[in-house]
Amino acid sequence: MAKAEIVKEFDKQDVNFRTFRNDFVQSQLRVITLQMEKNGDVVMDEVDKKSTNSFQIPSHTKSEERYKFVTAHHPEETVSVTMGEPCFENQCSYEAVIKVFDHIINVANVKDGNESRKWTMVGCDGLPYTLGSRIIDNYSVCHDCKMEFDDAAEFEEHKNYRSHCTNIPYSDCQKYMNLMMLPVLGHYEINMSKALMKLLWDVIIIDLAKMLGFKSIKALQACQVLQECVLLFSFSFSDHHKTWQILQIFMFAMAQELLHPYCRQQVLSCRTPTVEGFYLWLAKVSNPNFKFMSDVVFTSCLALHVLRAGTRRNNSTAIQAGKFKFSPLFFGLNMPFYMETFIRDSFVRVQCPHDILAFIEKNESYSVSGNESKGEGGDFVLENFNRKTKMWVPAGLPDKPKWLQVCRNIDILEKVHDHLHSIFNTKQADDEYEFSYDISKEIFDFRCIVRQSKYLAKPFQVEEHKTLSGKTLDYDLVNFMEMQTK
Ligand SMILES: [Zn+2]
Repeated sequence: MAKAEIVKEFDKQDVNFRTFRNDFVQSQLRVITLQMEKNGDVVMDEVDKKSTNSFQIPSHTKSEERYKFVTAHHPEETVSVTMGEPCFENQCSYEAVIKVFDHIINVANVKDGNESRKWTMVGCDGLPYTLGSRIIDNYSVCHDCKMEFDDAAEFEEHKNYRSHCTNIPYSDCQKYMNLMMLPVLGHYEINMSKALMKLLWDVIIIDLAKMLGFKSIKALQACQVLQECVLLFSFSFSDHHKTWQILQIFMFAMAQELLHPYCRQQVLSCRTPTVEGFYLWLAKVSNPNFKFMSDVVFTSCLALHVLRAGTRRNNSTAIQAGKFKFSPLFFGLNMPFYMETFIRDSFVRVQCPHDILAFIEKNESYSVSGNESKGEGGDFVLENFNRKTKMWVPAGLPDKPKWLQVCRNIDILEKVHDHLHSIFNTKQADDEYEFSYDISKEIFDFRCIVRQSKYLAKPFQVEEHKTLSGKTLDYDLVNFMEMQTK
């Protein structure tokens, strides 16, 4: 039953994603044709000439415009965020997750008898999400003797042997039934970025990293460490912003280079480039570099972009379309916790009651500032608070009591902080502004590198599949994207 629902969901998300893809291709076609018109020379465009002087910044990469292709669904009233009591557990394990569950139930006062909060949502990263979901499935308490079980089969045996809970459905005996797990969007996005870095690092991102100034061996090592980190769990907030910028530059530059030969051909024969025309043209392309890059850019990279836009604008349709179209990469690259996370999350959404689904969809992300393009997943909202608390904790390894003290008083401390800023008339740093500077020049520069390398120069010639710097790749990589969806 549910399996058929998921298959239907894939079809639905395919249709939704196609709308976003068409919009994206359309906007990029516009950028290229505008550049051709401005240049007045179709055969040799600006990228060929490398004449950056006259290069005008296309509006689509400006940060305030970036996510507007997705409709915003933030509530009219600004959300209020309250920092809860922290629970100190390091190393994610079943034991740690259980401790956190008990802590949440206690602090949030989640109880059957409590009319104002019978159940609550718990958002987290893929590993605790997976472990937590398994715990919810398997942990039970016998109503008759209060004995606890961590295995559903053992509980069943106990019921039969003792004739306990004979008329009570299993779900009523589940110890953590009042908690509902949700994978949070910030970490979802980080893991999608990790997957793309893993897939593309040797093929092309390494060349982009060099272009961006990671030139010395030390800097390149740092960048490689960044990529290694990407594959592990330790991953800082600012590292993710670097990765995000690299992937954005890559996506826009590569998309424009993939569209360019089609556009030039159309304009040269006095026809208008169209989205449908491009897809028809692309279907005939046989060059492995070209095929692989168009799959990566117009599916995986764009899925990440659409998910980010959906998060920024609290748009569930975009978020789900992004998750579904990206999901084959988690399987292809063997990222087990996100494979299970994706499947569980999809099942929850097709199986839960309608009003609960509506609640989830209404609260995918939160814009604390009220800005319609600055929504974030609950994890990044919390991360902002964590950073604020760190400011008040003395340098060095923070001890638990100090941290607890700061967390409990963060609202008051923030007021003091704001007041001091107003007294001294100093400006507070806006992180979003800091991280979203214009990347048009980098996009253009990377296009020049791709064009110069002739990496995409022969769309209709079957050649060896290579990295941008000319190393031979496994031809199967081209079929990689297709293979995963089977
Ligand atoms: Zn019992």
